[in-house]
Amino acid sequence: MAPKDHRRCVSCRRLAPRTEFWRVVRLAGGREVVWDRQEPRTPGRAAYLCPCAACLTEAQKKRRLERALKTPVPPTLWPQWWEQLAALCPQAAKEPSAVLSLDLETVAFTPDPSSRTEVES
Ligand SMILES: [Zn+2]
Repeated sequence: MAPKDHRRCVSCRRLAPRTEFWRVVRLAGGREVVWDRQEPRTPGRAAYLCPCAACLTEAQKKRRLERALKTPVPPTLWPQWWEQLAALCPQAAKEPSAVLSLDLETVAFTPDPSSRTEVES
C-alpha cells in the first residue's frame, strides 16, 4: 500500500507525494474529466501524472489516463498540459510535442489498406 498522501503516476508508475503530480479527475457521478488544480480537491475518480514530457507523451500515446479513469479525456486538456510544461521547462516540452502531433495525424489520416480494397471492389 502507498504511504499516506502518496500517489502513483499513470505513466511511469513512480510513487510520490500527490502534490508533485498533476491531478486529473473524472467528476463524481459523470463522465466529465477535468484537470484539478484546486484545494480542496474536486471529488471523483482521480489519476495522477508527473509534470514531465516523458510521462505526458506516454499517457497520451498509450491512453493511460483514459484507462485509469475509464472514460475519454477531452482533447482540449492535452494542449493545456503541454503549455504548462513549456512554461515549466521550455526545452523539455518542445520535442515530444511536435513528434506526437505528427504521430497522431499519421494514424488518423492513413487509410487502412485492407478496408480500401473492400471499398474499391
Ligand atoms: Zn511519471
